[in-house]
Amino acid sequence: MSALDSHPEAAPAPHRPTRAAGAVDASAGARATTASCTPAANETRVSQPVTAHETAHEITVHEMLPGRVLLGRGALREVPAQVDRLGARRVLVVAAPSAKATADDLAEALGERCAAVFDQPRQHAPVEVTAAALALGRAHDADGVVTLGGGSAVGLGKALVARTGWPHVAVPTTYAGTEVSPVLEETTDGLDAVRRDPALVPDTVVYDPLVTLTMPRGLTLTSALHALAHAVEALYDADGTPVTRAYAIEAAEGILNALPVVLDDPGDVVARERLQGAAWLAGLCQAYGRMGLHHQLAHALADAFDLPHAELHALLLPHVMAFNLRAAPDAAARLARVCGGSAVAEVAQLVRSHEGPTALSELGVPAAGLRTVAEAVAADPAPNPRPLDAEAVLRLLEEAW
Ligand SMILES: [Zn+2]
Repeated sequence: MSALDSHPEAAPAPHRPTRAAGAVDASAGARATTASCTPAANETRVSQPVTAHETAHEITVHEMLPGRVLLGRGALREVPAQVDRLGARRVLVVAAPSAKATADDLAEALGERCAAVFDQPRQHAPVEVTAAALALGRAHDADGVVTLGGGSAVGLGKALVARTGWPHVAVPTTYAGTEVSPVLEETTDGLDAVRRDPALVPDTVVYDPLVTLTMPRGLTLTSALHALAHAVEALYDADGTPVTRAYAIEAAEGILNALPVVLDDPGDVVARERLQGAAWLAGLCQAYGRMGLHHQLAHALADAFDLPHAELHALLLPHVMAFNLRAAPDAAARLARVCGGSAVAEVAQLVRSHEGPTALSELGVPAAGLRTVAEAVAADPAPNPRPLDAEAVLRLLEEAW
């Protein structure tokens, strides 16, 4: 398994297309489309002509995910009322170590409704960690879970829900978006398994920009660019729907406008709130849409070289955008309108402002390893606006190196 993917949506399986039994082949004269048997996935079905006067056309199917969302300064204070609303009496609080101060405040606000605090979530929800959290919760008579943190905390919450059916309130502290996704990636003896089920979406998500004020500048930048990657890939997804495209462009506009302001002044709570709202929509883009080359490259590089998740996503993004947007003119035009110029240049400049690694070489990727990754990507390409041949992907990787 890769240590890179810190949240379940990054797992290859949900991003990769599967041909459903009912999908119609291109021989019918219409574009072959992908579909999934999972209710949460969107699909495009090809409708056959009924009479000689009709032509085959595509029917878009968009199924909304469940979930309640609160967004705004001070929303954290609403968590106890949300717990009550869901009918839980005592909740296990799962908190990332980085969120300890907020977890302490939350536990105090919950009072007797806080059964216990579990502060050691790990990425990819290892089953032994889930078992330990579950044992703690049961020992303290928990009947619900509140998660506070990024993908590791939320992933553990989903793993607990999968075993107990507990109600789940998630309080995200990063911009990566798993809190609105129906996907759970779990690890057993180092092997990943992916569950996709709308019941895994947290019942209530509480976005409070005040809990993001202490997010380090580097994580703010890389996590927000990962969110932007969800929006960009949804914008050029050939199976996108009016909903995913609307979410995508609003997310891109929010991130590209608010992120530079937040980086200049991490304490600007108004910009933080806009950024968080945009990241929410970007999370929905990856929950509903198919991810393309960007995510495929991130997974392939992570698996091959065991790289830090957020930084890899951030540094790849301008290169993938430059590669793909020439083949996605509508997405390119929309992003240009948002930026008032070149989106690629704007994202590249944001990446350059990162104080951490901004090139694959700085992450320790050997130049000699790039060809193997490019060939693996081309051999089993993700849905992508531009065809993925190994030489072209290799050139992209060399530019990112
Ligand atoms: Zn992602």
